[in-house]
Amino acid sequence: MREGLTINERGSLVFGGWDVSELSERFGTPLYVLSEEAVRGRCAQIRESFLRRWENVSAVYAGKAFLTLAMCRIVQFEGLGLDLVSGGELYVARSAGFPLKNAFLHGNGKTVEELSTALSAGVGRIVVDGLSELEALEEAAASAKKRADILLRVSPGVDPRTHRHIITGHAGSKFGFPAAGDLLGEAVERAMSSDRVRLRGFHFHIGSQIFENDSHVMSVEILTDLMAGFRRDLGLVTEELNMGGGFGVDFSLEGRTPRIEEFTDPMMSCLEESCRSHGMDRPHVTIEPGRWIVSEAGITLYSVQTVKRVGDMTYAAVDGGMADNPRPSLYGAKYRAVAAGRMNDDPTETVTLAGKCCESGDILVEGMRTPPLERGDLVAVLNTGAYNFSMASNYNRLPRPAVVLASEGRADVIVARQSYEDLLLGESIPDHLA
Ligand code: PLP
Repeated sequence: MREGLTINERGSLVFGGWDVSELSERFGTPLYVLSEEAVRGRCAQIRESFLRRWENVSAVYAGKAFLTLAMCRIVQFEGLGLDLVSGGELYVARSAGFPLKNAFLHGNGKTVEELSTALSAGVGRIVVDGLSELEALEEAAASAKKRADILLRVSPGVDPRTHRHIITGHAGSKFGFPAAGDLLGEAVERAMSSDRVRLRGFHFHIGSQIFENDSHVMSVEILTDLMAGFRRDLGLVTEELNMGGGFGVDFSLEGRTPRIEEFTDPMMSCLEESCRSHGMDRPHVTIEPGRWIVSEAGITLYSVQTVKRVGDMTYAAVDGGMADNPRPSLYGAKYRAVAAGRMNDDPTETVTLAGKCCESGDILVEGMRTPPLERGDLVAVLNTGAYNFSMASNYNRLPRPAVVLASEGRADVIVARQSYEDLLLGESIPDHLA
């Protein structure tokens, strides 16, 4: 079984130092559980295998994967920076007291308000995604009497092997400046001649849930050639290169996720070699993993509600679904689930774990091997720490589950379960309907 999961003498799943049946009794279901030790373990691996092994490098956590006040604190204590992608994420980080000089603001549709807030809050780097954004940023910086430190996002034009909805660095991507063509050169020239921005370097992020290193390495080569070209033609010295995230995690029950250096070593070696061959100093490097840090640190607990046989299928419907985990229906993400209270019973059945939302596509797990399930059984869907809570909705007006941060001897609610009253926040009935 995957690291971080064990079974106790009662045959219950133990995660984050807790018998998960106890967590479900105490906090109810559906419930997101985040293991603090697992998050910190991944951060420690980044420190040991990336930050300490290479000079002039840094790591930031991509908050889009899972961002709460408590998560900001963990990231800060672990010595990582933050990748933020909206005014809302910036607000969370700011409210947690996160040192924003260690943050990047990303996004392909930043508003003037977001740019101005980032400037006034002292966000360390703004990653510019297009020419019109560069103009808007220059104006915002002029009104704030500031000079923004920026990177330009480059879309290297490579096609990693992952789901088409989560590739971002391919030719024709909505993100960044294409590596091929004149747009990037125009942006570089404009940024270099502006007294409102300081061009520090470049950024790429080619997609998510990537295992094969070749696309990342190819992107490094493309970026190094570009950097060499800009140095030759425009005299630009690239000080920084942000190589994004996208490092894959294994969703199988065995959980054989590659170590961070399996991703970063080939990229760093390639970068050092390419810089050497171009006669350039290697820029400061940042990585920004999200999923790799938090995905396996999270599980979601559900209670089985209805079990039924339809033809040769057995459905077990639970008390949550695509509202708390939209990824299976959005990109066909494959999760694994276990009968968390009956881990030692023989898995004699194959069950389809269905969500409770009014969509036929709301299926959380297909082909779950399990002991026969009954109403009231506890099920844990594994590997839900990333892009579950952060992508959750109130579809069918389902209140969002609570998030519990679990560690040996402690279980703290870090996000309260939404109430029905919370669902009505901001709603009103206009006079003519009263
Ligand atoms: N950086 C950027 C710019 C991203 O857009 C994303 C994800 O979309 C990430 C980092 C993190 O990706 P992952 O969670 O796959 O590591």
